[in-house]
Amino acid sequence: METKLKVELLMYTPQPENIVAAAAKLCYSSSDIQGLLKGQTPEKANKLIQRLLSYGHESPFEHISFTFGVEGVSRSLTHQLVRHRIASYSQKSQRYVKEGQFSYIIPPAIEEHAEARTLYIQAMEEQQKVYDQLVLLLCEQHGNEKQALEDARYILPNACETKIVVTMNARSLFNFFSNRCCNRAQWEIRQCAREMLRLVQDVAPSIFNHAGPRCLQGPCPEGKMTCGEVQEVRKMFLG
Ligand SMILES: Cc1cc2nc3c(=O)[nH]c(=O)nc-3n(C[C@H](O)[C@H](O)[C@H](O)COP(=O)(O)OP(=O)(O)OC[C@H]3O[C@@H](n4cnc5c(N)ncnc54)[C@H](O)[C@@H]3O)c2cc1C
Repeated sequence: METKLKVELLMYTPQPENIVAAAAKLCYSSSDIQGLLKGQTPEKANKLIQRLLSYGHESPFEHISFTFGVEGVSRSLTHQLVRHRIASYSQKSQRYVKEGQFSYIIPPAIEEHAEARTLYIQAMEEQQKVYDQLVLLLCEQHGNEKQALEDARYILPNACETKIVVTMNARSLFNFFSNRCCNRAQWEIRQCAREMLRLVQDVAPSIFNHAGPRCLQGPCPEGKMTCGEVQEVRKMFLG
């Protein structure tokens, strides 16, 4: 099923592999700062990165950051996303931007169920009407739209479509991918996380090629809640 989700990698630290390898070299050699990048080759950087990953020595990965623009997602998704505290966010404000005709996300299971879909759309239209009426009433009361918008928005649903810019360093992304690429994460944030992973794998393959849900590295940590599809998941991520 087609979704509205759009993820773009807006910017990232140039030469991410070189920076990580240089930071790690400082830990393990007597090199001075000027010498850190001397003699660095993609092969040497990659070898050092694989060693760091196998040791779990993750602090060098904090030196590189990736900034994504995410749109066509619900406020439900962004609420889950912003629980990841080791990150920076900027999100479209419902206090300042009027939801004149708010767009909303329809979960695939609801999209595929005719009766549920009708009910859902009715609820959205009803909420839009109430929101518009509240904005009018509160505008009369306060004499300014901004104050009206910030109170009227309490009626808006989690389904409301939004946009967000997020920046994370690579170490935080490892954690984000292990939580949110997992089949146990909700469909929407899972799609978003998998798209983010695909984008960073394109620009920093030796850093992210083994990133993904925890079951790529060992047994599924979810116990009874496991999706039961570890082999399929490994095949999808590792080929
Ligand atoms: C499948 C799934 C189900 C979930 N269900 C729920 C739920 O029912 N209810 C709910 O509230 N949340 C739920 N969450 C959210 C989850 O508990 C985390 O809040 C979210 O995944 C962010 O992860 P994090 O804290 O590791 O990330 P970050 O906030 O980015 O933190 C990264 C790491 O830094 C360290 N860290 C950060 N802050 C602190 C701190 N204050 N003290 C100590 N160490 C810190 C931790 O090691 C942490 O793993 C769920 C997440 C998933 C993936």
